[in-house]
Amino acid sequence: MSDLAIDVYTSQMFELPGGGSFSPTTSTLITGPTEAILVDIQFLATDGDEMIVQIEDSGTRLTTVFITHGHFDHYFGLERLLNRFPEARAVAVPAGAKSIATNLESDRAYVRDFFGGQALDNAAVPEPLDNFVLPVDGTEMPAIEIEQADTSPTAIIHIPTLHTVIAGDVVVYNGVNLMLAMTNRNDWPASPASITSPR
Ligand SMILES: [Zn+2]
Repeated sequence: MSDLAIDVYTSQMFELPGGGSFSPTTSTLITGPTEAILVDIQFLATDGDEMIVQIEDSGTRLTTVFITHGHFDHYFGLERLLNRFPEARAVAVPAGAKSIATNLESDRAYVRDFFGGQALDNAAVPEPLDNFVLPVDGTEMPAIEIEQADTSPTAIIHIPTLHTVIAGDVVVYNGVNLMLAMTNRNDWPASPASITSPR
């Protein structure tokens, strides 16, 4: 029995101004009786604002935003979210936080160009989560860094009491093909094809 609950928000497929489409992105709200943690945040204003309403409607206090990895679609809503919840702390595993800070300015230019100004701009970055632990109302959940997903570094969250893994962009997909462009033949075997017993 757990007093935690999860609620997953999945965005729609986005039609790119230059043709083609961009895959849906998920954000997961983990709530306890009084506190909440958000894992990844939407990069379009409309989706990000729906997440804000979801957090407000939960009646809990958002303490933490955890970013699984440094792809813009998982963290470009961060600045807008923190403006609404300034007391919340944004974190990522240390290697993830470093990668995001390193690539921020090039990501901003890329997103501006790729989405024709329709995606959010973002200057906020997560701090390193040095102890790899996320507490919600006294329940501690481990952040687990894995070797390879659609990029590296990447981390997942394990919620033992809910028998749940929040997988970011590890290969736990449902009807959406994984982006392979940022991997290579040497990296790929390091990605877990399925996660049955994370530690
Ligand atoms: Zn990704």
